[in-house]
Formats: sequence, structure tokens, C-alpha cells
Amino acid sequence: MSYVVFADTAEKLPVGKIVAAGQNYADHTKEMGAPKPREPVLFMKPSTAILHEGNPIVYPPVTELLHHEVELGLVIGDPCKDVSASDADRYIFAYLLALDLTLRDLQSAAKEKGRPWATAKGFDGSCPISRATRLEDPAVLTELELGLKVNGEQRQLGNTRDMVWSCQELVAFASKFFTLERGDIVLTGTPAGVGPLVRGDKIEAWLGSTVAFWFDVV
Ligand code: MG
Repeated sequence: MSYVVFADTAEKLPVGKIVAAGQNYADHTKEMGAPKPREPVLFMKPSTAILHEGNPIVYPPVTELLHHEVELGLVIGDPCKDVSASDADRYIFAYLLALDLTLRDLQSAAKEKGRPWATAKGFDGSCPISRATRLEDPAVLTELELGLKVNGEQRQLGNTRDMVWSCQELVAFASKFFTLERGDIVLTGTPAGVGPLVRGDKIEAWLGSTVAFWFDVV
């Protein structure tokens, strides 16, 4: 069973699905050579993608280009369907730091052929997460620095104020297609600076001033 752990109480909340947004920071969209999308680009990761701190990222043998993407993740509280962006705050229960690990070689091949990204984005362990912080004030989500270092060298640095679609807009858009259930996670996209990981790398990532994690790639 995959779950989210709360930082304050260590309470566990089962995770059903992970809905992720691509190309939600203009600087990352540009580095990927993609045109600015007119609506959010969504994909899914299964709950088996979750990886908790204390476990290594095992380099998947099916790729030669594993990329890091540091992201803000939203944890859904009450179930929602077809909600408006102005109502979406009511359903965002908590937030966490996540990596959207990507098999970039498989994803590039899939993009070229117009095929889905399921394997490139949804493989086992493709979503390392921190513990979750309960959301008291939704305004917190609009100004969170997020960044990632590999072996002490800074690779990614961004701020959620630069998101193309806000957290509320992403939840609203996703809920047009998927009923979002308690414990589901919505990943909100990555800023520029994505890049390759190799075995032996030590990853440090952070979100705001209070959330951080470390993962080893083996
Ligand atoms: Mg991503």
C-alpha cells in the first residue's frame, strides 16, 4: 500500500493516484523545446511510483537517461469532481516535496512517435516524496522556493510564483477528467534545470524553508 506520511503526527494517508502536470513553468517548457501549451498537460503515475525517504532511488535498468524534476505536490483531502479554480482550495489538504523522475530517452522516443508517456513517467519509484505538511493557508502555495542539488551542485531553482497554471487551476482542470480522491497527489510541474542522474549521485531537494529531503541513486 502506498501512502503519504504527515510531518506533524506521522499519520499515514493511503495514496490512490498521482496526477501530474507537465510544462507548468515557462523556463522549463523552453528548455524542452516545447511550444507553450494552451491548457495544462496532464499525465499519471500509479501509486506504486511512490518512494519514501530512507530508500534509495534504484537506477532503472530500462533507461540510459534518468532525469530529475523537482516539484511541489498537493495532497487532496475531500473528494472532488468538476470543481472551479475558486473552490479548489477547499480540496487541497496538504503539500509535499516530490521528484517527478523521468526516463527521458523513453519519453523523447514516445513524443516523436506520438505515443503515451506511461512507462517513461510511471515506473516503480518514479515519485520520491517528503512527508506532508498540512495546508493552513492556501496563500503559502503561491510563493514557495523549490530547488535541487546533485552532489552539492545546484541544478534546479525556482519559485511557485512562476507556475503557468496555479495549484487551484490545476486541481480544477484535473477534476474535469478524474475524480480526485482523498490521498491523491497532484504534481505541479518543474522549473528549468532538469538533468541526468547517474549511480552514486546524492540528491538534495527543498521546498520553502521547512521541507527538504535527500536520496541516493544506486
Ligand atoms: Mg514533471
